[in-house]
Amino acid sequence: MAAIVRNTRQRAAIRKVLEESGYPMLPEEILAAAQRLVQGLGIATVYRNINTLVEERWLTPVDLPGQSSRYELASKGHHHHFCCTNCGRIFDLPGCVEGGVRRMVPRGFHITHHDILLSGFCDTCRRAKQKSLSAHN
Ligand SMILES: [Zn+2]
Ligand SMILES: [Zn+2]
Repeated sequence: MAAIVRNTRQRAAIRKVLEESGYPMLPEEILAAAQRLVQGLGIATVYRNINTLVEERWLTPVDLPGQSSRYELASKGHHHHFCCTNCGRIFDLPGCVEGGVRRMVPRGFHITHHDILLSGFCDTCRRAKQKSLSAHN
């Protein structure tokens, strides 16, 4: 009985963290944030819950090339991501470029899926870079 209560609370904490997150999270990030809500949480529990939540289609994996899977709410629907190559943070980009994508394929082709990852500098990193550049002048 005690174990069931603990599992429920851990799962609730993991869900809360993901619901309140504005970006796809790594299991380690989920663990760090959920540990603040419920004590005694371990990485194995986080992975187990992630797997269940993906099976239930509550979570979707976000796979960036060469990186481990991140997770976000399936209810967010179709959108894209921006990856800052300086700080490594991932940002949600609401909206899509559907029309532009359709123009990229030859006549007669039908697109059923697309995956777009934008990368560069986030606002914070761009400002910091600009500052360090002007400091040298
Ligand atoms: Zn950045
Ligand atoms: Zn799109």
